[in-house]
Amino acid sequence: MSFEDRLSEVGLNLRSSIIRELLKFAASPEAISFGGGVPDPNTFPRHQLAEIAKEVVEQDYSYTLQYGTTEGDDLLAVQIIKLLNRIYGIADVQRDQLLFTTGSQQALDLMARIFLDKDSICFLEFPAYLGAVSAFRMSFPRFETVPLEDDGMDVGYLENRLRELDAKGEIKKVKFLYTVPNFHNPASVTMSLEKRKKLIEICDRYDILILEDDPYGMLRFSGERLPSLYKLAGPDRVVLLNSFSKVLTPGLRIGMMVGHSSIIRRATMAKQAMDLCCPTLTQRIAARYLERHDLVEQLKPGIELYRGKKDTMIRALNEHFSEIKGAKWVDPEGGLFVWVTLPQGFDTIGMFDVAKAKNVYYIPGEAFSIEKTPSTSMRLSFCLPPEERIVEGVRRLKDVIAQYGRE
Ligand code: PMP
Repeated sequence: MSFEDRLSEVGLNLRSSIIRELLKFAASPEAISFGGGVPDPNTFPRHQLAEIAKEVVEQDYSYTLQYGTTEGDDLLAVQIIKLLNRIYGIADVQRDQLLFTTGSQQALDLMARIFLDKDSICFLEFPAYLGAVSAFRMSFPRFETVPLEDDGMDVGYLENRLRELDAKGEIKKVKFLYTVPNFHNPASVTMSLEKRKKLIEICDRYDILILEDDPYGMLRFSGERLPSLYKLAGPDRVVLLNSFSKVLTPGLRIGMMVGHSSIIRRATMAKQAMDLCCPTLTQRIAARYLERHDLVEQLKPGIELYRGKKDTMIRALNEHFSEIKGAKWVDPEGGLFVWVTLPQGFDTIGMFDVAKAKNVYYIPGEAFSIEKTPSTSMRLSFCLPPEERIVEGVRRLKDVIAQYGRE
């Protein structure tokens, strides 16, 4: 029985994530996977969460085992408003400017539902977070991509493109620009302060809404923390997304959307139709966790762990990849990824079979392009493998590159 002939346009257009397909092979014990951007489970505060979970099920059961409001847990909101002030220096977020979402992935979906139509234009960075592309694609917008440079998006390119669209009378079709300014997934770069300011100036000029996605911002290893776009431009210009996935645990599935109250109201109505509310249980667990533990302090050992892994990966790349003429990689100031670009002539999808045979896995750059164009780049996540496996994995990758280069 096939149901293909009755599928909707959205249903017909669905594609399985190339990342999930490729990483099916990476599960064997001999495999070294630099694939998924999943946090190291050793960073999860499991004992504290277990204790709180038991308590809130037994004592707060009339809340935690019941339906909740779409807006989310008010106790969690109190904690999050404090946390937002601490990490971004934004003191004036009101309750009606905050919506909890089922991971920030749901916020991306909500943004697409409330802003994008078929003839809408949506600006993204290139390369772009695949999950955002998948969420936005459901509304069939026209994508415009802005190349990423070592210090963030090429704002000059963006300015020219917006000027052209304005001249063609299409500027009103641009619904928002999506950016990951800190420790980009997958490109691992961070947008400089100068570019942040320039981006806001351009978006002010053309009245473009910015969707700032910052799940990695708290995972900084070095350099100075830079102001968020939201802090610089406020809710009239920016919607800010954050998530507990990389700084507490992804299993809670808690994300947050901060923005103008009118946008939050629309997003709340859309969420009502999607899932009624986020799980009350995990929101209350998170609320009690934040009441009793200082997340910023608790995160420090995790940041050290990732810093160690990142340093190990960069050292291994310096040792094994320096001989590959034209290869380059970003040494990120935070986050979970290193973006490696090989010289012309390499195709990291084509190379994947060789890598598979040597039991080392990465995400080919092609996965992060809208049109699935061949790429000489790959994303390496250093978060999951232990340090000695990172060294071995990079050594295997060097062999993969050497063998592919000879073929
Ligand atoms: N945005 C970016 C840039 C991400 O990398 C991720 C997860 N990898 C998400 C959003 C979604 O995260 P979650 O739904 O777990 O909050």
